[in-house]
Amino acid sequence: MQFNEFSEICEKIEKTSGRLDSIDIVAEVLPKLSNEELPVFVRFLMGRIFPDYSPEKTGIGPNLVYEAVAYVVGKDKESVIKKINSGGDAGRAIENLLSKKEQTSFFSESLDLLEVYRDFYYISGVGGNSSQKEKLKVLKRLFSDANPKEARYISRLILGELRIGIGEGNIREAVAKAFLVPTNSVEHAYQASNDLGEVALLAKEGEGALNDVRVELFRPVKMMLAKQGTIADIIGEQGKIAAEYKYDGTRFQFHKKDGKCRIYSRKLEEVTDAIPDVSDMLLSSTEHDIILDGEVIAVDNGKPLPFQYVLRRFRRKHDIADHMESIRLVPNIFDIIYLDGETLIDEPFSKRREILESCVSKYVAPQIVSGDIEYIESFYRSALNDGHEGIMIKSLSAHYTPGVRGKEWIKIKPAVDTIDLAVIGAEWGEGKRAHHFGTFLLACRSENGDLLPVSKVATGISDEMLALLYSLLKDRIISESKNSVKFEPEIVFEVGYAEIQKSPTYDAGYALRFPRFLRLRDDKGIDEIETISSIEERFKNQSGNR
Ligand code: AMP
Repeated sequence: MQFNEFSEICEKIEKTSGRLDSIDIVAEVLPKLSNEELPVFVRFLMGRIFPDYSPEKTGIGPNLVYEAVAYVVGKDKESVIKKINSGGDAGRAIENLLSKKEQTSFFSESLDLLEVYRDFYYISGVGGNSSQKEKLKVLKRLFSDANPKEARYISRLILGELRIGIGEGNIREAVAKAFLVPTNSVEHAYQASNDLGEVALLAKEGEGALNDVRVELFRPVKMMLAKQGTIADIIGEQGKIAAEYKYDGTRFQFHKKDGKCRIYSRKLEEVTDAIPDVSDMLLSSTEHDIILDGEVIAVDNGKPLPFQYVLRRFRRKHDIADHMESIRLVPNIFDIIYLDGETLIDEPFSKRREILESCVSKYVAPQIVSGDIEYIESFYRSALNDGHEGIMIKSLSAHYTPGVRGKEWIKIKPAVDTIDLAVIGAEWGEGKRAHHFGTFLLACRSENGDLLPVSKVATGISDEMLALLYSLLKDRIISESKNSVKFEPEIVFEVGYAEIQKSPTYDAGYALRFPRFLRLRDDKGIDEIETISSIEERFKNQSGNR
């Protein structure tokens, strides 16, 4: 497939408003692709370059893209940035810039989908001192060969903001439709393999190949996620449930085969080397080949420390031993995904728990099972008394559903009114904060993965945090106007609020009342932020709005 065809398809989807029509466009193309093209095409369509479990990253920020574009269009970088900033859509701006260049360019080669992928792959492997230079060289070549529309999508792919309005769920349906296989089988295979590209290839083989997909050691699956709720509602709905403490730390997934192990963070990045103490503890807790899910907390004299202490350890690359002494970490294991060759994601939670207790001897999070509201409430109070964040309530019959924020896991914590949102823009601060961003624009996401602004936040941020945020965000600027900037979305804030209101001000149609910055959630990716439908649900659940 030519990259040009891919660009045309993206544009067609972008212009299509109907969900089913978008699915049809994709379903029609998939069977025509070669085995090599199929996974790449599917990942690209999802706005990804590599599978989610893969450690591969291009490591290219907006700056390098602008430099390459400036070179190709024969302008200085500043004027290119100005042009890009004036529109707000970097992909479109780059397309416009290149459309002026075309008349003067004689050596354009037509780009092939796989060639573009191979260039990205090459870029991801470039390391060392001159890596930026080498990456720039490849980018320059890509943008010289690209026609303007291709450049729009190449730049969006690199900047991680393809956003053509087709969500993961729709692409899964398109795969099912294209190869006449059940959506359930596609879903199972995706959950176990964590790569829809590979799943598309298996779908081509047939239903059997999809159903045979197993979770693999050292290929992390997405973490199962939780929703907010109340004890009474859940017990009313489900009767007997399991409850565990909600530990305020950092999620981990532990993979072990024989004596070797790896630990992955919530974003599926490998963190084994940063927490050797935790790997030793987990290695000593079981003889089995295993994948475990849990939360690491920091403790001091048996009391949990705030979550920031754990993140400090997860981020650390140097002086690990010194910090091991000052910050003691303890894992709490609450689920099992794989045991000695068996994939357990389709087993009910009660069964998984039984297996977990029978094969892991230490660090298993205590659990109670009950249908008695008062008993669960007293368990909740003891969690808070012990210094934990609250409790998690879990459905006993639930499968392990990677990446799904469903009703099977409900979090109960006192400050229920907190929300995770993506930082998509900022305004410059004033006075002594003039060289930092002062107010941040936050977005939730639609089911399709589009980001919808829903609030601004300026309160609750210390000077130290403002400086950290500036250093994290300054290289992620993708456009700039008089006093505001837009960012490549990557950073997540946890924000407190008093109420959700309907509002015409923001694209989400809702706004937060009295938003307050609580913390930087650099353990979370933007695919984990709140969806518009759960904001609607929160709005309805507020007293008076039912
Ligand atoms: P939140 O980050 O507020 O969406 O809450 C969900 C998170 O709580 C999970 O992703 C875990 O990182 C964490 N957590 C703490 N204790 C538990 C537990 N017992 N079961 C599941 N998740 C837990």
